[in-house]
Amino acid sequence: MKFETKAIHAGQDPEPTTGAVVVPIFATSTYAQDAPGKHAGYDYSRTDNPTRSALQTALAALEGVDEASGGGATATASGMAAASLLGYTLKVGDHVLLPDDAYGGTFRFFARVLGEQGFAWSVAKATDPAAVAAAIRPNTKLVWLETPSNPLLRIADMKAISAIAHDAGARFVVDNTFATPYLQRPLDFGADVVLHSTTKYLGGHSDVVGGGLVTRDPELHERLRFLQNAAGPVPGPFDAFLVLRGIKTLAVRMERHCANAMAIAEFLAADARVAEVMYPGLTSHPDHALAHRQMDAFGGMVSFRPKGGAEAAHRLVERTELFFLAESLGGVESLIEVPAAMTHMSVVGTALQVPDDLVRVSVGIEHVDDLIGDLDRAMG
Ligand SMILES: *Cc1c(COP(=O)(O)O)cnc(C)c1O
Repeated sequence: MKFETKAIHAGQDPEPTTGAVVVPIFATSTYAQDAPGKHAGYDYSRTDNPTRSALQTALAALEGVDEASGGGATATASGMAAASLLGYTLKVGDHVLLPDDAYGGTFRFFARVLGEQGFAWSVAKATDPAAVAAAIRPNTKLVWLETPSNPLLRIADMKAISAIAHDAGARFVVDNTFATPYLQRPLDFGADVVLHSTTKYLGGHSDVVGGGLVTRDPELHERLRFLQNAAGPVPGPFDAFLVLRGIKTLAVRMERHCANAMAIAEFLAADARVAEVMYPGLTSHPDHALAHRQMDAFGGMVSFRPKGGAEAAHRLVERTELFFLAESLGGVESLIEVPAAMTHMSVVGTALQVPDDLVRVSVGIEHVDDLIGDLDRAMG
């Protein structure tokens, strides 16, 4: 089955008792049993819920995992809940290697939560595999990667970094939130586990917070499912329903996000009021060739630096009308922000360098002429 078909059918057969073509929201905490321990596969909704199961089957299918092989997806209450489940796979003293350009919350979790509990972490320049190799320690158990990265939109070589992680006996996790499985399937490039914030493109409508982990490794999958039940960061059935509904249109939305982002990147690159544009689809992007090898298209995120420094960046984001000034990304509506003052505040002043004049846009699926007009006017 092709991606577009899986997005609509995987885990989403008609409901057997009524024929409903949409997976229902199973709003129930518990399930009646015929005899103690004798039930239809569900006993308590932290452990399992049919709406969440359908979402997990769909997530696994999109990342190219066959549940029959023992791998699968674990849906969580947020992207950070997915990160924290991975944290529970570690032991005190283990080392986590993070990319230099990571989602602010990921950095905060390892630096200020696990880091304070005796876990070691450090940062390596992910666009330089030799630097990643040099940063490996004897106790490195997790090598983390985001590609494209956030907010600088650099691309890292997944095959090269997976080889480094595996040589060191560490697991390789790729946060695939920005690309989505429609554009990039990290398990095919050596990732052991893929992390998603389904809050973003998979949900796609800025109306739900969720996350998930997908792996082909049966042992890891079983452990993650155990941790999902034991630690309890599960999505409710309504949230699972919203993400599943978003997934159905992922392919068509991503096509428009990518086309609009490319047009906006080209507009900005040609504009004298702009100092620098970061978009992996531009041939001028330093990682364009690598992006081409790893991704089917280049995504809906564009970062740029207007001339005039942080002051110009702040003025611009306050003046757009269609681009809402807000954190987050991946919804149908366009958003704009200044990472150094918003999403990435927790990394300012650390080794992670986010320029204070950087503007990040999440390009929505509105008509591109209106979006370009909005940026043009806001830049004055
Ligand atoms: C948003 C985001 C997260 C965290 O997800 P939440 O759903 O907000 O907890 C992790 N990684 C990336 C790349 C993100 O954009």
